[in-house]
Amino acid sequence: MKKIIIAIDGYSSCGKSTFAKAIAAKLGYTFIDSGAMYRAVTLFAIRNEFINPGGSVKKQELIAALPQIHIRLAHSTQSGKSEAFLNDENVEREIRLGEVSDKVSRVSEIGEVRGRMVALQQEMGGQKAIVMDGRDIGTVVFPQAELKIFMTADPVIRAQRRYKELTAKGEPVNLADIEKNIRERDRIDEYRAVSPLRKAADAIVLDNSHLTVEQQMQWVMDLITEKTK
Ligand code: C5P
Repeated sequence: MKKIIIAIDGYSSCGKSTFAKAIAAKLGYTFIDSGAMYRAVTLFAIRNEFINPGGSVKKQELIAALPQIHIRLAHSTQSGKSEAFLNDENVEREIRLGEVSDKVSRVSEIGEVRGRMVALQQEMGGQKAIVMDGRDIGTVVFPQAELKIFMTADPVIRAQRRYKELTAKGEPVNLADIEKNIRERDRIDEYRAVSPLRKAADAIVLDNSHLTVEQQMQWVMDLITEKTK
């Protein structure tokens, strides 16, 4: 079977990572969560006080510090999942918390941050046999990807899913705040000047508002069979 690159882009909290992980497990491919990389840079910016109280980023300070930010995604045998490392510290849990979610889209708007992340992602995908999820994978990172999927779902349903996921982890969260954050991130991601969230012309849309992961898997496996012939 031919090895391919599968690019999964779309709105926040659509289940992109869950879907991408399931596809990677089924095919024996590597799953790469590009959002985790932007989240790790954001955590670095928060810790170093590069974010103003109003939420704007101290852009020049962050850009100057970029050479000190080393991000790595590694498979953990303990959790069985891919985990994010910031300068060799495991930050997987911390990057999923509300403070990072609230600030990440502002950090991801910065062209220099994107340039570094995109180069790293392209390096990671050099061998094919990968499933990468994000916002600009099919348009910027791997415009040559053999299969591109653009995911969307009703924002209210997305907020409910995210709420369930975080409460299951014991995080103290509020449904209205989550929905607000999702809508705000969508807005910033769609309207930013550099690599905005866009459906690639050759991407296939998947609205999973009312689909289970199993139904989505059935749908995608037919497409993969076609593309890997
Ligand atoms: O995928 P996730 O929701 O974890 O991504 C967090 C944020 O990182 C997004 O809201 C977006 O601002 C940014 N991002 C991006 N480009 C990507 C992946 C994520 O700008 N390829």
